[in-house]
Amino acid sequence: MASLYFYYSAMNAGKTTSLLQTDHNYFERGMNTILFTCAMDDRYGQGTIASRIGLKKQAVTFDKNFDFFCYVKDAKKVACILIDEAQFLTAEQVNQLGDIVDLLDIPVLAYGLRTDFMGNLFEGSARLLAIADILTELKTVCFCGKKATMNLRVDKDGKKVTSGAQIEIGGNDRYISVCRKHFKNHP
Ligand SMILES: [Zn+2]
Repeated sequence: MASLYFYYSAMNAGKTTSLLQTDHNYFERGMNTILFTCAMDDRYGQGTIASRIGLKKQAVTFDKNFDFFCYVKDAKKVACILIDEAQFLTAEQVNQLGDIVDLLDIPVLAYGLRTDFMGNLFEGSARLLAIADILTELKTVCFCGKKATMNLRVDKDGKKVTSGAQIEIGGNDRYISVCRKHFKNHP
């Protein structure tokens, strides 16, 4: 029986490395996978999933109108579906992933951020937390040593950014993974 998995974390917890390692494990057994990533994330070139430790792999890109069920049902001999940047899925797309598991009996592993820089759930993550069979938190640490669960957005002066678009493209802000206490207290 296939399952829908959601691996979630703050930024820089190794989600992409974990995804690419899992993909490699299928490859070594001669099994086919399909990798998906969000069309917005072009840090490493359109349609490439790359981890910070140097691994990379081509992927199919999705936007808000992409139909996962239609794409996968016509594919041949797929052993596993792997999705990077799963926080950017719509709720409807997460439902499609559930259909892939239930109707096509193909396991789906989705990797994404739990919350945005304001501490709110992303749409895709909210739906995955609601309907995934198996939830796994990938852990990283705050500078204080506690588990980092939040994504702090800071401007060029290191000051906390508290408003703006959920997804910022091409700006100068950067993100720091922190615990809840330091997310609230950051100046
Ligand atoms: Zn902390």
